[in-house]
Amino acid sequence: MIKGYMLIGGKKVFKKEKIVIDFPFDGSPVGTVPRGKKEDVELAVETALKGFEKVKSMTAYERYQALQKAARIIASRSREFAELLTLEVGKTIKESMGEVGRAVNTITLSAEEAKRVLGEEVRFDAAPGIKGKVGFFRRVPLGVIGCITPFNFPLNLTCHKVAPALAAGNAVVIKPSENTSLTVIKLAEVLVEAGFPPEAVNVVTGYGEEAGDALVRDERVRMITFTGSVATGKIIMSRGGLKKYAMELGSNAGVYVDKDQTGRLKELAERIGRGGYALAGQVCISVQRVFVHESLFEEFTKELCSFSKSLKVGDPRLEETDVGPVIDRNAADRIMEWIEEARSMGAQVLCGGRRLSETLIEPTVVVNVPREAKLFRQEVFGPVIVVNPVDSLEAAIEAVNDSPYGLQAGIFTNDLKAAFKFAEEVECGGIMVNEIPTFRVDQMPYGGVKESGIGREGPKFAVEEMTEIKTICFDLN
Ligand code: NAP
Repeated sequence: MIKGYMLIGGKKVFKKEKIVIDFPFDGSPVGTVPRGKKEDVELAVETALKGFEKVKSMTAYERYQALQKAARIIASRSREFAELLTLEVGKTIKESMGEVGRAVNTITLSAEEAKRVLGEEVRFDAAPGIKGKVGFFRRVPLGVIGCITPFNFPLNLTCHKVAPALAAGNAVVIKPSENTSLTVIKLAEVLVEAGFPPEAVNVVTGYGEEAGDALVRDERVRMITFTGSVATGKIIMSRGGLKKYAMELGSNAGVYVDKDQTGRLKELAERIGRGGYALAGQVCISVQRVFVHESLFEEFTKELCSFSKSLKVGDPRLEETDVGPVIDRNAADRIMEWIEEARSMGAQVLCGGRRLSETLIEPTVVVNVPREAKLFRQEVFGPVIVVNPVDSLEAAIEAVNDSPYGLQAGIFTNDLKAAFKFAEEVECGGIMVNEIPTFRVDQMPYGGVKESGIGREGPKFAVEEMTEIKTICFDLN
């Protein structure tokens, strides 16, 4: 059992009341973390205010160096981070190694951005009657940023918040998911070891409604950068008052397979299947809704089922496992209920659909799902792919857009005009042409429209969100 702690100003803080973190595969305890409360958040924010003064005075090169060093430390301890990720999240060891690699990349990209926190000259004399005034604007850090992170990518998604925040000269207080806090504590320790002032990197563990809420309501916190569900995002914005927000929320990504894709349906079924089942479907851009031209529907669904059945579902610690468990029993209960609801509304479960243990669900393909079903409308966050036939590009665009979400979408087509029309008319933050919507690299602008969120991540874009503009004007008359 790992005995976790909070990290405030570099000190390990323990508490009597603890939260137990379980291994999602079999429910065995992995470790504990303290149940942080309002007073712990207050201390962390007070400490971060002191940390801010220190990070702000580091040079851009010093911040670059510290982030580079942090990336090197994590790379050198990849296996250790990956094993902990697998125990906390239940993702397969292959997926965990992938997440560690991406986190190293995100920190390295953020290091580069530390050198590019730039403003520009303002032409004051471009206004009528103004002469002899020169100046510019600079991007300055905000101060203390509250980072609230979800369970599914505890390492890389925390890096997407903390690394750009530090690159730009801010201090942070992190409230990780109660299910996956141990990885985040390790990350914070590495950042301090790499050279950031201990007061600038704080972690308060605990429940969202308690520790998270206290962080959101604290008026000294200048920005909340949140990744998680729409419901929590809305609560946070209604309670946090006057501060900046970045909201990376959920989705139920759609992809269209056009009528000219004959001859490559096996390949597409495999790519789409991987996009739907990675991390047991618990990715914000998991492929959830597939729209296939009616002429290809039968063959495509046959190929998708054959791929789904070929996957090894089981213990995520084993190298050969393809699909691990979902995060907990409640999540599995909900996913099974949604499959049953769709079935009762007339949909057909073509393959999978069985629960293999409390948290293991077979990769599942459900076809002809009515639009009113939760499997179509909401975010399933499980290894379930919906496939519906459509008779035209226009119908596919309409179907993809028939969602409260808009994070990413994809189209497979050889028709340039169709690709352009899809990219123009689909309401999403990112459109992937001849690629699944699950595609993301960490430097690209990433974020959603509609209920999928506000703002963009990717270190360059996060630095913009995490700084404000200060205009400086000299009168030379
Ligand atoms: P969640 O339940 O919304 O929780 C996210 C974080 O918010 C957790 O740390 C949680 O703490 C905290 N929280 C809960 N209530 C709070 C409150 N009242 N005030 C402040 N903080 C509060 O989400 P999740 O289940 O961990 O993650 C899955 C969701 O994240 C999915 O919807 C997924 O699509 C989304 N997601 C989006 C992206 C993206 O980039 N757009 C990426 C990954 C995931 P506790 O853990 O203690 O409840």
